[in-house]
Amino acid sequence: MSNPIRICTACGEPFELTPEKPGLVTHCPACSAPKSNGLPNARIASRQEILSRMDFFIRFSTQDKQRAERLGDESLVAMREKEIRMLQQAKLALAAKAGSRWG
Ligand SMILES: [Zn+2]
Repeated sequence: MSNPIRICTACGEPFELTPEKPGLVTHCPACSAPKSNGLPNARIASRQEILSRMDFFIRFSTQDKQRAERLGDESLVAMREKEIRMLQQAKLALAAKAGSRWG
């Protein structure tokens, strides 16, 4: 598995960007799904859910980076390093706005 991990610009959740994913590359699958009733399709995840998903992706990226290092795949190592930084920044940003958007 070597798909890049992105942070959804609509709901803030990290997701794996697979080539088959429909919709915008900046939106997670839930936010990309077609809206049938005119209402936003994305469920608003709790801050705790988003944080635990970020932790999961940080662990995943770290493990995959270590694997890529063993294989000598420098471009994958660089991609995973970028993701880990992005996820850690997103976690800090989420912690900083705790209490405003998420109660
Ligand atoms: Zn989303």
